[in-house]
Amino acid sequence: MKTEEKILKDMAKPLLLWYDQNKRSLPWRDQANAYYTWVSEIMLRQTRVETVKPYFLRFIRELPDVGALASCSEDRLLKLWEGLGYYNRVRNMQKAARQVQESYGGVLPKDYQALCSLRGIGSYTAGAIASIAYGIPVPAVDGNVLRVLSRLLENEEDILKQSVKTGMERLLKEAIPKDRPGDFNQALMELGAVVCVPSGRIECGSCPLNDLCRARASGRVTELPKKSEKKPRTVQKRTIVVIRDGDCLALCKRPKEGLLASLYEPMNLTGHLQEQEVLKEVANLGLVPLRIRQLEDAKHIFSHVEWRMKGYQVQVEAVEEKVKDRYIFVDPEKSGRFYPIPSAYDAYAKYWKENMS
Ligand code: SF4
Repeated sequence: MKTEEKILKDMAKPLLLWYDQNKRSLPWRDQANAYYTWVSEIMLRQTRVETVKPYFLRFIRELPDVGALASCSEDRLLKLWEGLGYYNRVRNMQKAARQVQESYGGVLPKDYQALCSLRGIGSYTAGAIASIAYGIPVPAVDGNVLRVLSRLLENEEDILKQSVKTGMERLLKEAIPKDRPGDFNQALMELGAVVCVPSGRIECGSCPLNDLCRARASGRVTELPKKSEKKPRTVQKRTIVVIRDGDCLALCKRPKEGLLASLYEPMNLTGHLQEQEVLKEVANLGLVPLRIRQLEDAKHIFSHVEWRMKGYQVQVEAVEEKVKDRYIFVDPEKSGRFYPIPSAYDAYAKYWKENMS
């Protein structure tokens, strides 16, 4: 039987041939640009390629280089990221951009270890930037690559373990072709994204590695990879209150730390409240409620938490000065353009755009 090292060495040729014939045309692939690779790789974590494309194009149009990212205002930055979730990622990108400005003259360093030292850049992202933009022969092992490799090598270990990822990186480092490291890494990611998919239609018949694949030979493709069970999410009950003064919407900025830090939101109360309780909360702000109506229930899933939301819309008048310490009343048109509101509230967005006059 072939050793793991031999399988990985033998896969480069058919994999690259397949990639040359099948690679998708993606906006960040058209030119070797380390900044574009970085932005796209951070956006692509847990997000589909088709969703990322318009975000990526808008982001690089508005922030075309490291310097522009480093100096962007937080609200603008979060607005550009609105809907992608995981907002700490873009905050970390900005911190890293400032490090790059200070230490590397605004150009992402051509050095794997130096890339790893930047905020929010781990071995995968550093490997992607180094190999794709700079041609450095280092691996870039993400979830797609781990899945392909655990099937190819019939590896039974838990792919969520860091030690397994490190082991795969070590094996790949020896196999990566020195003349096309970026294409090799992208080919493996692409294979995991479109052929060796997590479940459903796994396309072993058209896979360029099928002659080498141990899991295919033993009929165990769907049993792999092995993954430990994640901890169940905490379920939280929330009451979302869309407060309107005429056509204006009340928005509050969330705290600087924690879930959805520094983003804007409508009133968000703990628990599932009844109408009278909601009216009391609104009145406590110094507002005079005129009308209330119940909205539909909604749900939003974060990585560790799930919000089960009950919604209300409350029409108010008499906005006292003290309310303005906590809430801003904005034109819904402006809320769309200037205030980053997380997609957790998407189910209620239509109620702040509704014409109230
Ligand atoms: S043959 Fe099937 S299981 Fe093996 S790498 Fe290809 S798609 Fe994945």
